[in-house]
Amino acid sequence: MTVPLGTIDCHAHLGEFRGYDLSEETLLAELDRGNVALALVSNIDGADVPGKTRGLDEGAANRATAHAVHRNRRRLRGLLWARPNTGSASNLAPFLDEHLPPLADDPWTRRVFVGIKLHPEMNGFAADDPAVDPYMELARKYRVPVVIHCDGQVDQASAARIHALARRHPQVPVVLYHMGFRGPYEPAIQAAQEAGERGDARLYLETAQAPVEAVLLALRQVGPRRILFGTDATYFGSGHYEHYRALRAALAGHLEEDELERVMRLNACQLFSLTRQEEP
Ligand SMILES: [Zn+2]
Repeated sequence: MTVPLGTIDCHAHLGEFRGYDLSEETLLAELDRGNVALALVSNIDGADVPGKTRGLDEGAANRATAHAVHRNRRRLRGLLWARPNTGSASNLAPFLDEHLPPLADDPWTRRVFVGIKLHPEMNGFAADDPAVDPYMELARKYRVPVVIHCDGQVDQASAARIHALARRHPQVPVVLYHMGFRGPYEPAIQAAQEAGERGDARLYLETAQAPVEAVLLALRQVGPRRILFGTDATYFGSGHYEHYRALRAALAGHLEEDELERVMRLNACQLFSLTRQEEP
């Protein structure tokens, strides 16, 4: 497998969130400054936070993501924003069939969308609600992971609920974004560890906004094969990746070179089937 050099950020956004700069222009500039080769983007316009986000339906939110990927195919791939309580998995299926035209010097997959994103808190559903099951089934069918906002302090988005969902769909890789936003982080780390030991679910942890100590604990508990670098770009706006300088330095200091490669890009490449070589 030949993977282009540079980091892969598996957690980035498009769209508008009042008080934050998530513009495409800022994202692309920060990817350059942060030496990030590829970012996986979902459109936060699909979130339902009154007064802060636009609350677009699945079709409108994801069409905007597709356009952004088409405009920036060397830098971006999409994650489908799912709204299980108001939408339908059948809305999302056509997006997973969408491919970019062949292009010799684009090393990445021709798939426009490489996964499905769920935000239980911002869309008001529990992560293990039965309404999520058709989306998990869709992910299984298309062999794509599901990424879920995991919050240490919000029951709907708890690690326990995400683990319960993932257990019902043991073939589908599930990435716990933030590994417990704002903490505590232990429940997410423990869930991933238990899932690994029991083999009852495929849980992965992602690093956005997590303190360095939590990520190092996660590495000790679950190992570098199930941790992915992600940042919630561009949550911090201009200079976004500067906020991850300490994390990057700690990872480089604590991991062997091959382990560091895994966390910073290889795990994402394999899990999301990001390179052309991995296509059937
Ligand atoms: Zn996010």
